[in-house]
Amino acid sequence: MEKSVFAKIIDREIPADIFYEDEYTIVFLDANPNTKGHSLVVPKKHFVNIFDTDEETLLHVMKTVRKITPVICKAVESEGANITSNNGAVAGQVVFHMHVHIIPRFTDDGLKHWEGHSISSDESRDLAEKIKMLLI
Ligand code: AMP
Repeated sequence: MEKSVFAKIIDREIPADIFYEDEYTIVFLDANPNTKGHSLVVPKKHFVNIFDTDEETLLHVMKTVRKITPVICKAVESEGANITSNNGAVAGQVVFHMHVHIIPRFTDDGLKHWEGHSISSDESRDLAEKIKMLLI
């Protein structure tokens, strides 16, 4: 399997602005930031997406997200952030090495939230039932 761009960053084969690292995770600035401070938390072990990531690693990734986000926000004077993970090409995933985006937000930063659509209460209830059945 060809090494992902993030694996190359972890192994210091290509440069990145890394500012945090521990046994399980590494954090660096996104090369094409959506906002100032946009960062990526990446597990050192390779997983394709959130669903094949082992629970222990996932916990460490989220611990790092929680530890680092307030510090990034302080550095760029932001009072909030979107924490997001794209899973699957259809969801916008481009790098198939699991990662979490930290995107600091600012008043009038131009980023738009996803548009909501109306759904009938019948459709909503049926869908919840279907998911409930699949969880059994
Ligand atoms: P995703 O669409 O969730 O797979 O996001 C991949 C992210 O990785 C994008 O926001 C890219 O800008 C970022 N990215 C790709 N290559 C690099 C790189 N060499 N250094 C830093 N960020 C990168």
